[in-house]
Amino acid sequence: MTEFMGVRDAVRWVSMRGIEPIVTELVEYLEQDFRRWGEFDKAPRVAKYTPLGAIELMPTCDAEFYAFKYVNGHPSNPARGFQTVVAFGVLANVHNGYPVFMAEMTLLTALRTAATSAMAAGALARPDSRVLALIGAGSQSEFQALAMRAIVGIDTVMIYDRDQDAAEKCARNLKPMGLHVTVASSAAEACAHADIVTTCTADKSVSAVLTDNDVRPGVHINAIGGDCPGKTELDPAILDRGPVFVEFPPQTRIEGEIQAKPADFPVTELWKVLSGLAPGRTDPDQVTIFDSVGFAIEDFSVLRYARDQARGTDYARPIDLIAEPEDPKDLFGLIHVLSPVK
Ligand code: NAD
Repeated sequence: MTEFMGVRDAVRWVSMRGIEPIVTELVEYLEQDFRRWGEFDKAPRVAKYTPLGAIELMPTCDAEFYAFKYVNGHPSNPARGFQTVVAFGVLANVHNGYPVFMAEMTLLTALRTAATSAMAAGALARPDSRVLALIGAGSQSEFQALAMRAIVGIDTVMIYDRDQDAAEKCARNLKPMGLHVTVASSAAEACAHADIVTTCTADKSVSAVLTDNDVRPGVHINAIGGDCPGKTELDPAILDRGPVFVEFPPQTRIEGEIQAKPADFPVTELWKVLSGLAPGRTDPDQVTIFDSVGFAIEDFSVLRYARDQARGTDYARPIDLIAEPEDPKDLFGLIHVLSPVK
């Protein structure tokens, strides 16, 4: 039987465990998988772009498991009463192709994206980083802030969103968590004393949410909201200032901030830094940029982790997803049993 973790189960699990303990463990799973990058089958995700957004399938596999995620990105959705990003996904056994775990992945995506940002910042930001600027205060924002505290140790969050209500929502959610939180009136103000800047805005446009002047020396940037053709967040001049780190170059060159740059623009793959095969930050005054678009291996890691967490608990339950006739050649026999001829 396939085990299923639905939204109610995921909400109970995250509420009981807490976001920061989960992110801390999830980063261990992510690091394990990034360090064995060569074992995975990799391809850019399969995307359907429409005027209102993107619908994407994100597959990958190793020798044991195959995983895919269905995810959308519709920046105009909140104005119409829907979320920008929703998702679900599946983990299957490679040896027989049977799905073993299926999960809601709207929450799991927020957790894995936050954990990936924090893992990148842990490797690339200055170790004394304490102040995070969050540009964009929607669904991903609180997860990003808490992951950055869990992994990097930030204690202060400066929030800017062009929607004041969203910024105040984020501040309201984060203040009880013990962070020093301030709502800024511009991206420049939010970044004025920031050690790490995370841009997590949603707009189907080539934007300069962050201008070159907003970025002071020594800052680490996680740019997570520029993740599809024609949807970017950074002034391209910022990319010239520092080393740019990416997940999977063939996908990032299509979807990431570097789509604004020539096809041979130099990038470093994050897995190489995490494996000790490439340098990360080499100077405290350097600007480091993680041009994140979200890659299938991150979803593989979070599905693997959630399955391990749910095993032997009531956070997942068997679902009747795959027809399993006793005789594997007699699928028809199932129907015959249910509908005997009169
Ligand atoms: P959301 O719609 O809930 O929130 C986005 C926020 O950005 C909104 O509050 C909006 O007002 C704000 N915003 C838009 N343009 C802005 C601007 N110019 N300046 C300041 N604020 C601005 O979306 P979300 O679910 O939080 O996702 C944020 C972004 O992250 C989306 O673009 C999404 O596609 C992307 N994303 C990336 C990954 C990844 O792995 N890289 C994963 C998940 C989501």
